[in-house]
Amino acid sequence: MRLSANVRDLKPSATIAVSTLAKRLAAEGRDIINLSAGEPDFDTPSFVSDAAIAGIRAGRTRYTPPAGVPELRKAIAARLSERAGHDLPWEGVVVSSGAKQALFNSIFCLFGPGDHVLVAAPFWTSYPDLVTIARAIPLPVSGPEADGFKISPAVLDTARTDATRGLILNTPCNPTGAVYSLSELRAIAEWARANGVVLISDEIYRNIYYGNDRPAAAGILDLAADRVGDIVLIDGASKSYAMTGWRIGFSYCEPDLAAKFTSLQSQITSNAATPSQMAALAAFSDAGAADASVHEMGRAFRRRRDLVTTRLGEVLPDVSFVEPEGAFYLYFRVDGLFDDGVTDATAWCSRLLKEQGVALVPGAAFGDDRWVRMSYAASDDSLEEAFRRIGALVGAGTSA
Ligand code: PMP
Ligand code: GLU
Repeated sequence: MRLSANVRDLKPSATIAVSTLAKRLAAEGRDIINLSAGEPDFDTPSFVSDAAIAGIRAGRTRYTPPAGVPELRKAIAARLSERAGHDLPWEGVVVSSGAKQALFNSIFCLFGPGDHVLVAAPFWTSYPDLVTIARAIPLPVSGPEADGFKISPAVLDTARTDATRGLILNTPCNPTGAVYSLSELRAIAEWARANGVVLISDEIYRNIYYGNDRPAAAGILDLAADRVGDIVLIDGASKSYAMTGWRIGFSYCEPDLAAKFTSLQSQITSNAATPSQMAALAAFSDAGAADASVHEMGRAFRRRRDLVTTRLGEVLPDVSFVEPEGAFYLYFRVDGLFDDGVTDATAWCSRLLKEQGVALVPGAAFGDDRWVRMSYAASDDSLEEAFRRIGALVGAGTSA
């Protein structure tokens, strides 16, 4: 069948592909440690699930307005307003089927044929593909490895073209775990404004943060900017509240643009699933209960972050990695381990999966196939065992 130019180059999501393969091998009886998928391994907090069940019993099972039920949009806006330090209009919030759809809405509404969109690299695998679906051109841009690849105005100046219309930034970053400080973010937001570039800030891992200076990573709403005309915030419930399967994300931007996202969504998915919106309403309105669960998950992620960075140093002492300050990924560089049969991280990950049953995502998914990503959203025992097996693959001893 002849395919349209919209999808001719479209590939399946690489992160989802590896995770699907790992799940299939496990279902076939293989002993697989799946550290590919980026999703919390915790159950959704029960007060959240209970709210969905109560909603279903109360008949909240029909279509909602396309941008979500007003009470949920208002609850989200109230939490965003606390962060911003002033009231933000709830009409700027659009609830979507996952942050993924919120990103699609933003990219598709803002960029089109011929537009250049800078994508901070290493990037989450879907950004360039979403830009390509809009027939715009994704241009990866990255800062120095020693600085966790974080970009700065100087780096952006070298990448900007006359056709640059957008910049996609992710902090805390998937796959590196790097986190931008408030002053770094401010400099980038000012650069974007001065250059007529829309900044899409994906802050879905904001609550998974290991710094001691603040409870959550810095985000664009902390910039105290009262002008949001050229900024789109992306966030959601998937990571903060262990709700990946419920498919609730949102965007926040100025209300006219939000209305356009709503029109697009009304033509494509109508609305995010109604029972899921009831669940999210509990998560975003009961701040005390939600923050307690974020805190508990955060403690586990921090312990595992320490575990994986320590084990990596023991098992692969010569391998460099980005020190994760947020999210739940460890990004490390494996080109020093290549040999005649394994000349990229894709082949290295295949060998690890085939010979040792450990699934990681090769850096090809994030823009550089000398690196690999490990998700440490897994039990301590699985992580210990994964490093024992990586040690076995490379012939290293481990203390585990
Ligand atoms: N942004 C980033 C950086 C992610 O890692 C993910 C995880 N899939 C998403 C967006 C999409 O999240 P959601 O499950 O809400 O669609
Ligand atoms: N964000 C996760 C990851 O990067 C989930 C899979 C996806 O949506 O790409 O692995």
